[in-house]
Order: sequence, then structure tokens, then C-alpha cells
Amino acid sequence: MKGQALGHVWIIGAGPGDPSWITAAGLAALRRAEVVVYDRLAPPELLSDAPDDALLINAGKEPNRHAMSQDEINTCLIEHGNAGLRVVRLKGGDPYVFGRGGEEVIALSEAGVPCTVVPGITSAIAGLAAAGIPVTHRGVAVSFSVVTGHEDPTKPAAQANWHRLATATDTLVVLMGVGRLESITQALIAGGRAATSPAALIQEAGTPNQRLVSAPLSDIAAAAREHQLRPPALLVVGDVVDLQRSLDPERLGPLAGQRVLVTRSRQQASTLVDMLRSEGALPIVLPTIETHQRTDPVAFINAVNKLKESRFTWIAFTSATAVDTFLDLLGESDTDTRVFANSRLCAVGNATAHALHVRGLIADLVPENATGESVAAAMIAAGDVNNQEILLPRAEGAHPDLPTLLTQAGALVEELTLYLSAPAADPTADVLTTISRGNIDVVTFTSSSTVKNLREILNGDFSDLKSATIACIGPTTASTAEQLGLEPDVVATDHSVTGLVGSLRAYLWERRTDANRTEATS
Ligand code: SAH
Repeated sequence: MKGQALGHVWIIGAGPGDPSWITAAGLAALRRAEVVVYDRLAPPELLSDAPDDALLINAGKEPNRHAMSQDEINTCLIEHGNAGLRVVRLKGGDPYVFGRGGEEVIALSEAGVPCTVVPGITSAIAGLAAAGIPVTHRGVAVSFSVVTGHEDPTKPAAQANWHRLATATDTLVVLMGVGRLESITQALIAGGRAATSPAALIQEAGTPNQRLVSAPLSDIAAAAREHQLRPPALLVVGDVVDLQRSLDPERLGPLAGQRVLVTRSRQQASTLVDMLRSEGALPIVLPTIETHQRTDPVAFINAVNKLKESRFTWIAFTSATAVDTFLDLLGESDTDTRVFANSRLCAVGNATAHALHVRGLIADLVPENATGESVAAAMIAAGDVNNQEILLPRAEGAHPDLPTLLTQAGALVEELTLYLSAPAADPTADVLTTISRGNIDVVTFTSSSTVKNLREILNGDFSDLKSATIACIGPTTASTAEQLGLEPDVVATDHSVTGLVGSLRAYLWERRTDANRTEATS
């Protein structure tokens, strides 16, 4: 195969549940992948980190197909590796902890395909931590064992020696054991583990569906049945389980464990999602908006020509999307940012100012508030606008406040429509199920359209969100929410995504402190 690139396979542990728990090495390889073969337990959100044109192969289950057998997976990896491609094998947890990573590496090595194993965070340790259970703790547990519950402990051929494990280790973690909880707990008790040993089950650790059920070892199987606990779940037995009361992540930070609905467009959601996730929140993305470019080329060229003639005193950018769209179009029309030389640039908020900065432009004015009223006031205060021409690149159907107020002050405003924000199509079914079950703790709104469009997606009915905290980026968004029947609990003081998260965490922390105080005094 002379001349063909040499392929490579990365066997990557993606960690359990939370997509931000993948290692830097794993993410770097994933971002360069040409083929991704992924497992059921690998966080599905990570697939969006693969390049857009990467081939995604679901080894857990193909539509209308059974799950791939291990031999089929090995063959698939070898074939794509031999075709000279960069192949990522994405697995949940760590590849070498009940992950069959060893089998894949041996097959690749025998076939002469180069490969690299990237370790991952295993659910056996991090899955417990996600629920507030440390696998060791000074003075409580100095050893732990991780064992598969896949085998039937009553069968003599079983490899795991439950009787010896029962007393040989302080903390015992059982993977794949949900189907055999009765026989496992009986075997442990028969082997000498106290029936009163603290035990817990953690379902879908690190995901918005995480659940914790705890009970003494003798009762944990019945508790699992009662609470209809489903795989994937971890069984943990040992005194460390009692530490959960002090180490419950939800007690430690305002956002931890909060299921937060993110309603902005997919392109814009990532900063908010990253901020939420870094504090242990569980962001649930339901994009309510899609942006479509909607520019009249004649109007655009006219605006550019006027810029070249230095006609505009001001250009007021009202969103980061407006900045990006305008500058992309400018580039396409073989013009560069020197056309702005004789105009002042106003950015309505920090995100818009940042978008300008990324393009090498510094905003001359960033009004403190993003409302039409305060932007107009700030521009007028910065210099008389009477008889001055002002360019306003913006979205179709944007709020008329700003142009109206500037016109009233004597300005000659030229609105240039660049894009349309439209309700997003087809929200995913599981997000809608989470909402309908009343499982959303916080809803974030970053513009009036996110409120309006969410209402449309929910068929005009916000009742499933009535116990959720409603957080709005600013007063305009909050008043839209109010008009549509929601009571905003949080209105950000700084009208940016950072400000929204800041105000939200302050609100939740205070509410939690109040709740603790009531608990302490009652
Ligand atoms: N290689 C994986 C384990 C694969 S075996 C790792 O290192 O985590 C599959 C078992 O792992 C499941 O049956 C369950 O017991 C456990 N598991 C994996 N991810 C989990 C999660 N997010 N929450 C709870 N259990 C999980």
C-alpha cells in the first residue's frame, strides 16, 4: 500500500456521564478523528467535538441492528485503521476497567495497526464522587476493590470470590451488578460482611438523570426495586457511604446538581454550558433559536460604500452575531476593517464587544445596560447625534426601541438587516421528556425570543416549569417572560452570560443558606 497514509487508532476513555470529564489527550485526538466508533456509555454530547465530516459509528446499536459484537468492533477498527484513517474508539469510563480495551489493543497489534490508549476517569471512582461518596477516606477506608457483578455468584464457575471479597476490602464497588443485587448482597453477607454495612446505588452518575439510593447492605436490593433503579448503576458497600451526608456535591456549591435548561442557539450555547458545567451543574441544551443569514446584498454594498465615504458617525452592533455576520460579509466583498476608520463603534454588551475584539476592533462605547433606552442615552451622551448618520446592523424583527429613540434625537438611522433568528426545529425527545416530568431546576433565557420560542415548543404551556427557577439575562427578557406567564426569579444585573450565571449562583446560594438556617432552627 505504498503512498497511503499510515492509519492510527486511539482507544479513548471518555469518563462516565459528564462530557467534560474526558481528558485533554482524549479530546485532542477526538477533535482530529476521521472515524469515531463509540459506545453506549460514552457521553453522547462528545460526538459534537468530532469534526463535522467524521464518520460516526455506533458500536452500541446501529438503527435496526443489534449491538456490534466484540469481533465486529475489532474488525471495524482494523479495517478503518488499515485504510489509513485516524480512528477514535470512544468508550465510557476507562478503557481498561471492564472496558474490553485490552482485547481491542491486542487485535490491533496483531493486525499491525498502530494504536494509542488514552486512559479515562473510571465510573468506579468518579461515579461515586459525583454522588458525594469518596472511595477512600482517612480513618474510614484504606482499601477498595472493584468487581464485576455480571457473573452469577451462586454458580461455582464464577471467577469473583465474593466470600473472600466480603471482608478483604474496606470499600467494595460493583459494576454491572443491577441485575443480580439479591445474590450479590446475600453472598457478601454470607461471606461475613455485616448486614448493616452502609450501601448505595448510583444510577447514571454524572448525567442529568443521576440518582442515588442508599440503604443497609441487607436492604439495598429491595430499595433498588422500590425505586425502580436501572442500569447503568454502581453498587458501593462500605462506611464511606455515610460520608455522603457531608460531601453531597449539592451542598457544596450553588449550581451543583442543578438541571439547567439552556435555550439559546446551539452555536451560542457553549460558553454558558461550559460555565454551568464547571460548577457541577447539569446543562440541558434545548436550542430555541437558529440564526439564518438574511442579507440584502444591495443594501449591504450600499452601506459599505457609505462607510468608504466616511458617512457614518456611529456603527452600533447589537449582538455578537451581527458583528460576525457583518465582518464575514465584509471579507467576502474584498473590503477590510479600515472602512470603519472614521466611524465610532458601539457594542451593546460585553459579548458583542468581545466579538469585535476577536476581529481586532475595539469598541469605543459599551453602554452599561443593553436596553434600547440606555444604549441610546449612552450614544447621545457620547456626542450629539443630531443630523448624524448611524448604521445599525441587526436581526430581522429586532426590537424597535433603539432606532426609534435615536431618530427622536435627530439621528439618521440606517437599519441593515443581516440575519433572522428563527425558532429551532425538532427539539430532541429526551429533553422534552425531562421537562414534562418536571425535572428542570432552572431555566435560562438570554433574549425575548428564547422565551417566546420555548413557549411555542411547549405548545403554549409553561406549567411543567412552574417549580423551576427562572433566570433572565436582563429586564427586557424578564418582562417578556412575565407577559407570557412566567415569574422571573433572577434578572441579571450585568446583562451578559457571565452576569447571568453570577446572579443565578448568588440567588441559589442565598436560597440554600436560608433553607439550611430554617432547617437548623426548626
Ligand atoms: N469502563 C467503564 C466500565 C464499563 S462496564 C468504566 O471505567 O467506568 C459498565 C458498567 O460501568 C455499568 O454496568 C455500570 O455499572 C458502570 N457505569 C459506567 N458508567 C456509569 C455511570 N455513568 N453511572 C453509573 N454506572 C456507570
